[in-house]
Amino acid sequence: MTKTDKQALRAKAEMATQGEWWIDSHGSAMVAFPSTTEVLVVFVTDSNAMGPAVRHEDTGNLSHWRNDNDASFIAAANPVTVLALLDELEAAEKRNYELESSVIAPGIMRCAKCQFVLTKNNINMAAGTITAGDSKTEPCPNGCGPLWPVTWKEQALEMRDSSEQWFEDLQVSKARIAELEARTITVKLPAACADDEYFIDGVFQPLRYERDVERALRAAGIALDTGE
Ligand SMILES: [Zn+2]
Repeated sequence: MTKTDKQALRAKAEMATQGEWWIDSHGSAMVAFPSTTEVLVVFVTDSNAMGPAVRHEDTGNLSHWRNDNDASFIAAANPVTVLALLDELEAAEKRNYELESSVIAPGIMRCAKCQFVLTKNNINMAAGTITAGDSKTEPCPNGCGPLWPVTWKEQALEMRDSSEQWFEDLQVSKARIAELEARTITVKLPAACADDEYFIDGVFQPLRYERDVERALRAAGIALDTGE
């Protein structure tokens, strides 16, 4: 049904006698109630009761109809037209459903109570691909009730919140690393005096001293790579 067809149908409906249409109690006339006080005859089955046929200015028809546009409207609102309208409506409803479905992020379900998130994936070994699973509801493993499909919008908001958290964590970690890098470590090195174990008969023993320096450094948490 084209836009022009719809406009023509609308024009006919608008020109026809307004108000609710009703068959009178004798079943011989269709009447309209344009207001609470007005009753207009749309048509009666006995053409004699409709008076003599007259030429209608609007339509150019010679007819018994009080308003010949009523006849045009009834003719236009035939089953073919109504079915075409229904077809269009059904197609629009189907399209709406498809659009609504595309709002759901496939394979992601969330529990509204405990925030448990289930991500379903299909692993296709032959093709070497992983695709999103279905969004069919299933119970929360924590026994809260059903899991609900997650929309792309909810998913995007969730990822935004997560990335904000990651960014904050990263800043904290960076600050901690800088703190660790800048820290001063105090190591108490062994003193070498003429009368201690590093001297034998007044001769300094470098290997002994080195060994104790190494121990002191390791004790302070400094890793040593002494090599070969
Ligand atoms: Zn739950």
